[in-house]
Amino acid sequence: MRLLLIEDEQRLSTTIKKGFIEDGFAVDAALDGEEGQYLAETENYDLIVLDIMLPKKDGVSICRELRQKNIITPIIMLTAKSTIEDKITGLENGADDYLTKPFSFSELRARIQALLRRSQSNLASVLKINDLELDPLKHSVSRQDKKILLTQKEFAILEYLMRHQDEVVTRTMIVEHVWDYNFESMSNIVDVFIGSLRKKIDRGYNPKLIHTLRGVGYKISTEL
Ligand code: CA
Repeated sequence: MRLLLIEDEQRLSTTIKKGFIEDGFAVDAALDGEEGQYLAETENYDLIVLDIMLPKKDGVSICRELRQKNIITPIIMLTAKSTIEDKITGLENGADDYLTKPFSFSELRARIQALLRRSQSNLASVLKINDLELDPLKHSVSRQDKKILLTQKEFAILEYLMRHQDEVVTRTMIVEHVWDYNFESMSNIVDVFIGSLRKKIDRGYNPKLIHTLRGVGYKISTEL
């Protein structure tokens, strides 16, 4: 695994780099935005840790430009501000996750491991449960070989459920994953989308695959 760290605080950079090297990563560290972007564009990384406040070029611009150039390496942003607007700006510009300073190394490590797991499983082929199939690359869903048309959000929720087959998934987990940020008041919206998904996926088919666990969340499974 090869990681690019773009962080101008020398001490923080050294600490993070040391931690990841101990974990067996190869780490390149850039101390300003221009050098960081240059490395991100010319080298191949499995993941980029990107600070927002950087000399020469800020992290949000770097992230946006990398995405415009079709560089899809997972990016975790480091932000000194904890306002929701700041996080959304990063996510809207193509970041996959964010971490608010100060953070512990173990926190960063956990986030990075989750991101790497996600990006690697994204490469995996078709997801299946019973006679339901979802192809993440073709962005298609079918049941009993009949094509089912889903909206983007329905697709994202179904994909998330299918990646957590037989596990209980809470509304908050779905909101955080599908809308990318935690927005409590949106948890009702999950019920609406699950309702429409159910109509398309389960109505007229057996066994029912989407289950509600009252007061807890949802589960996709061939059995309750
Ligand atoms: Ca900084």
